[in-house]
Amino acid sequence: MKRDALYDLHIHTKLSDGNKDALDILEVAKANELEAVSFTDHHTTRTFDEATVYADYLGIELIPGTEISTSDFKSLHILGYGMDDRAELNMQLKTITQTNQRKIIEILLKIEQQYGKKLFTNHQVKVMLREGNLTRKNIAHQLVKMGLAKDAESAYSDIVGPFGNLGVQTIKPSAKNVIESINSAGGVAVVAHPRSIKHRQSGHNLSFKEHEQLFAELKSYGLQGIEAIHQSDNSSRVQNFFKYVANNQGLIKTGGSDYHGHRSGESIGNPNVKEKHMDSLRQAIKDRHNSKAPRDACSLCASS
Ligand SMILES: [Zn+2]
Ligand SMILES: [Zn+2]
Repeated sequence: MKRDALYDLHIHTKLSDGNKDALDILEVAKANELEAVSFTDHHTTRTFDEATVYADYLGIELIPGTEISTSDFKSLHILGYGMDDRAELNMQLKTITQTNQRKIIEILLKIEQQYGKKLFTNHQVKVMLREGNLTRKNIAHQLVKMGLAKDAESAYSDIVGPFGNLGVQTIKPSAKNVIESINSAGGVAVVAHPRSIKHRQSGHNLSFKEHEQLFAELKSYGLQGIEAIHQSDNSSRVQNFFKYVANNQGLIKTGGSDYHGHRSGESIGNPNVKEKHMDSLRQAIKDRHNSKAPRDACSLCASS
């Protein structure tokens, strides 16, 4: 009997915090007989541009993707799919990334001054900047490793985190702005891993009721889907709830693995993402493109 087609709409690569190259992942996808994938690297859509030609060569459908953090709640991440007009969005995301990297460096320097010692070598900082791993979390872990804090949680909440004593705030756009930017780039906005969303200060999970209210609010800004199928949700009660809300609110359902390459037991392809889910995403992308004003053709692309 023919096996169902496999898809994965949530994969990270080296261009954000994943540890594999997009083209290498495409090879694994080909070997595992995946039909379509989307690279959803944090705060960039560049992965699509890097991988699209090789994906065509391998015969894998590659959907432009990204994942953007928002300020409204902890882990309220918005996935964008199908952006066909990516230049402006990428420029905005790059500005956010650079500003935030400067803020993290500010945190690092303040801590080093406070303790009178270096937390990382210059080489380590360079590699972390390159790989997008210079984060508050990694600084908190390093403080523990060096015996300067007792555990990473308290180092984060008391010192390094947004509510810690250093008081350095990074910039995060609101969910409304993120959804609108994805839409104006010709993309479909989908709320990622809804189960992980937490209240910012208390860290409490959202209740089912709060989830429903949040999705309705985000829909009013242009949200079109919920990542109802996520590897981390192993409770069918929770999955069923997100599917129910998506149906109820007229939102499409997407899914993936959130593959990063460095967690144990990770693999690409989520067997619960079906052809019907792909079809509704493809249709939503098509409708989004059709509703936009036509763009100027690429003036540098005409052959002489
Ligand atoms: Zn995420
Ligand atoms: Zn992710």
